[in-house]
Amino acid sequence: RFITFEGGEGSGKSTQIKLLAKRLEGANLRSVVTREPGGSPGAEIVRHLLLAGVGRLIGGAEAEALLFAAARDDHVRTLIQPALESGVWVLCDRFFDSTRVYQGRLGEVSPAMLNALQDVTIGAMKPDLTVILDVPVEIGLARAAVRRGSEAPDRFESESIDFHRRLRDAYRQIAAAEPERCVVIDANAEPHVVAARIWLTVQERLLG
Ligand code: C5P
Repeated sequence: RFITFEGGEGSGKSTQIKLLAKRLEGANLRSVVTREPGGSPGAEIVRHLLLAGVGRLIGGAEAEALLFAAARDDHVRTLIQPALESGVWVLCDRFFDSTRVYQGRLGEVSPAMLNALQDVTIGAMKPDLTVILDVPVEIGLARAAVRRGSEAPDRFESESIDFHRRLRDAYRQIAAAEPERCVVIDANAEPHVVAARIWLTVQERLLG
């Protein structure tokens, strides 16, 4: 089974993904936790380039989208597909919905280009479940600031409140358009409460 986690800054994706992996372990199900951009050795190299702003430097938003796609291609081929084929659950922090939201809805990359890149990188291989962690924008940003400490905010964390509101709306719209794949989880609660909500959904949808 393939589960992806999505949501804005400070929505708790990395915390919740680890908690779900523990629950699966408790149910005797093997899983691997991974993330995008990155996840495989090749894709982690591309992640460094992306976070250093190389995409924008060499050609702008479209070059950046190509780098994200190159990373995803490697990640899918070398980690995700082999794991799924051997019966291991894959829990991925961000996947193609992040691309649709950040590069598409809030960025400058056309739907045609994003569709073409999606065909090449993942084809028909969609997640069985996408957990969208939903928190009020102010709360997510405050959490991200606490986590960051004295480090400078990254490009998106320093965007306006309006940007983050549009981000949240874009995720909700994806969920509304694909209810059989996506679930919106209210993540404005203690981590163990959110984890219990997610586990209930996984049991209902994938283990029922
Ligand atoms: O989730 P994480 O903080 O590791 O993501 C790294 C950065 O890359 C974030 O600022 C995120 O918003 C951005 N990102 C992006 N497009 C994607 C995936 C992540 O712009 N497709």
